[in-house]
Amino acid sequence: MNHDLRIGLGIDLHRLEKGRPCILAGVRIDSELGPQAVSDGDAVLHAAVDAVLGAAGLDDLGTLFPENDPKNQDRDSAEFCKRTLALIHEQGLRVVSLDVVVETEVPKLRAHRPAMRRRLAALFDVPADRVNIKGKTNEGLDAIGAKQAIRATVVALLASQPPAHN
Ligand code: MG
Repeated sequence: MNHDLRIGLGIDLHRLEKGRPCILAGVRIDSELGPQAVSDGDAVLHAAVDAVLGAAGLDDLGTLFPENDPKNQDRDSAEFCKRTLALIHEQGLRVVSLDVVVETEVPKLRAHRPAMRRRLAALFDVPADRVNIKGKTNEGLDAIGAKQAIRATVVALLASQPPAHN
């Protein structure tokens, strides 16, 4: 049995602005408000990348993909995931599970959770039943409650390759 397990935590907050596309966990969601960012603003993928990088003891998202690098302008955050997966594979690690909390008043995520889960699982090469996404509101409190911000928090579990057969 494989006991070489690593846990990582990633948190990402973005301002919400009118007219911005709303892409969360790689899924485009119809919404009046979307995350403001240099990249596509996908707070879920940014937090997931930081959680996975953290578990692997690697540099964080902002160091690997600096906001002042023109290449990262409007960049599809799925590319950050692909690069992150390649980096952990080089270390002999794989993602075992991802647990995600998205705090936002808008958009409502319930209808989008299955698609977000599938997409996140595909991006990190994990079975979909090992990815969970929960949507929370902030009861009208703070910047999230005021629809000014969205925050994603992700816990990632990593293990050594190869995958366990169970
Ligand atoms: Mg971000």
